[in-house]
Amino acid sequence: MHETVFDKILSGDLPADSVYEDDEVLAFRDINPQAPVHILVIPKAKFARFTEIASRPIEETGRFFSAISKVATSLNLDDSGYRVVINNGRDSGQAVEYFHAHILAGRRFAWPPG
Ligand code: 5GP
Repeated sequence: MHETVFDKILSGDLPADSVYEDDEVLAFRDINPQAPVHILVIPKAKFARFTEIASRPIEETGRFFSAISKVATSLNLDDSGYRVVINNGRDSGQAVEYFHAHILAGRRFAWPPG
């Protein structure tokens, strides 16, 4: 797997505005925010795409989604609500080949998404 910007953030080679970290997960602010709150959540155990999650340990996946929820709660997003987005592959617009979830909040989002 080639090195991505998220590998560099995880190793400390690139700075990031981190909002949460534990043994398995890092969350930091998106450099090009699409909403007043735009957080990226990545697993420290790297894989490229959501497609691969089916072959990961289910407990690890559970803890990853728990971390997303914890981050949102810690940023006081529960009342207003927020959107969690996972882009997977070309048609979704996935630009960084390191699995990640977006947490978007602070404005109203349209449905269906563009
Ligand atoms: P994707 O389209 O792959 O789901 O989303 C990748 C996200 O990573 C984009 O929202 C983009 O703005 C963000 N991003 C790309 N490079 C960097 C960076 O160096 N630092 C941070 N914090 N975010 C980045």
